[in-house]
Formats: sequence, structure tokens, C-alpha cells
Amino acid sequence: MDRRKLTKLLFLGLALQPLDSVAQVIQIKATRMKIIKNIHLHRLETTKKLPPLQDDDAHIKDYLSKIRHPNRPHKDDILLSEHNFATLKSVVNRFLRIRQIVGHGHFCVIDFDDALKISKQYPKVGRFSKRELTFIEELFYKDANCYGFKGERQLFNITDRIDDNKIYKVPYTGNYLFKGESLAKYEELKKDIGEKLILTSGIRGVVKQFYLFLAKAYRYNGNMSLASRSLAPPGYSYHATGDFDVGQKGFGGANFSTKFVSTQVFQDLAKQGYVKYRYQKDNMLGVRYEPWHIKL
Ligand SMILES: [Zn+2]
Repeated sequence: MDRRKLTKLLFLGLALQPLDSVAQVIQIKATRMKIIKNIHLHRLETTKKLPPLQDDDAHIKDYLSKIRHPNRPHKDDILLSEHNFATLKSVVNRFLRIRQIVGHGHFCVIDFDDALKISKQYPKVGRFSKRELTFIEELFYKDANCYGFKGERQLFNITDRIDDNKIYKVPYTGNYLFKGESLAKYEELKKDIGEKLILTSGIRGVVKQFYLFLAKAYRYNGNMSLASRSLAPPGYSYHATGDFDVGQKGFGGANFSTKFVSTQVFQDLAKQGYVKYRYQKDNMLGVRYEPWHIKL
């Protein structure tokens, strides 16, 4: 096997492993470099035409800087064209008008067919244009890997529905959870951590995830990669399949920032062994660190 192939394989091996910390990355990198160095020395005896070795290191550093600074644009980011950005804006506004009709809570669990029906039924919302529908459909079925998001797809059909009988609206939170495992986990957390723990985001159906992702991409001037570093693209959110977010009562928007780790709620979660990250620090999924996200 030539050195390039081996380097690539070693890097892929690294990229596919969940990493707990920078220390782990450095340790693996050090081992990898040792192996590569040996190969390099060996191969030098047979050929003098070897490319520089720094490429993979630069790649990893570049990657880590992206997810450690999830609000900063990057030179490789994928941006929407001006034409598509205008469509994104009209879609975001239409979803917003749908939310005004159905209410914040219910908006979390409506499906795409519901959204279409509402858009036809209420002149205040207005029908989705053909261009908007094409944009929405293309975005849903696009491989999010192209933006740099490496998580697994959770929903495969844009028309996927959430069964009303399988969900429970958690009082005073405006959020829903799936009955069974999700709800049991939330109740267990409430019991063990106490009243200060709150549900900050539960089930998100196709429409809700579309709205959140597109609203973020709109705020980032159509930078889809930047949006995907802090929010799963439509179809890729684990909030559609049972994960949920928690926070500390009274901590507001800071519950969705790394400041959350300083709260009593997080400290208690950690102490009691509840912290099992979906998106841990320096993960290889292309997503920022999310200590508030509860993985099922
Ligand atoms: Zn989450």
C-alpha cells in the first residue's frame, strides 16, 4: 500500500472514531505521526518524490477550529446563491406565519402535509410557491455531508408524520416528548435533579427543524455550513427520534451555550452519571459541543 493511501486510511480511521477530548486527538495524532514518520523514512530509501506530511494535521486543526468556533464563517463554507437566499427568506416567513396559526407548541409536531394544508387554507399564510417547494424538497433530500455535517439521517421522507397517540405535551414547557423511553428519561431526570431542571426543546418534526435550520441559515446570510455546525439540517435531527434538550430554570438562552456547564443542573447531571453526549467536545460529526442535549 502506498503512503498516501495509508495516510488517508489512518485519517479516516481517526475521523470515524468518537473522540472524548483534544487530548485523545493529540494522542492519536502522535501515534499516527510516529507510524507515518517510520513509513516516510523507509520509503525515502526507495523514492525521493514524496509530498509534504503536514496536510492531514492542517486538516484536523482546521476542522477543530470550525467546530470550536461554530459562529464563525470558514473559507470552505457552502453558501446559497442570491436567488436561493431570496427563496429561503420567503420560506422562513411562511413557516413563521404557520407558527402564528398553529401556536408555538403544536408547531413542534406538525408534519409537512399539515403545513401545506394550512398554507392553502389561510390567506394570511399564503400558498407555498413552486420555487419554495422545490427548494424545500431539494434541501430535505440533499446529503448534509456536503455542508460538513456528518451525523446520520434520522428521517427519510419529507412527509414523515408524528403519531399524536405516541406523544405527550410536557406541561408548562411548550414542548412534546415521545411517550415511553424519552418521557421516562425526562421524568427520571426531574426526580433525580429536581425542579430546577427544565425541558428546553423536545420533539421536532420536519417542519420545526426546517424552520429552525433555515432561520439560522438566514441569520448567517445563507451560509448553510455555518448553520449546520450548530443545528442539524432537516431530516438529520435526533429530536425527531427521541433526544431532547434540558436547561436550568431561569438561565434563559444561556442554556444553549457552553455556559450551561457552569449551572447546578449540569453539575448534578454529571455527578449522577447522566451526561452521555450526542455531540461531545471535539466530536467528528461537524457539530459544536452540546452539553444540554440528552441522548437516548
Ligand atoms: Zn438538542
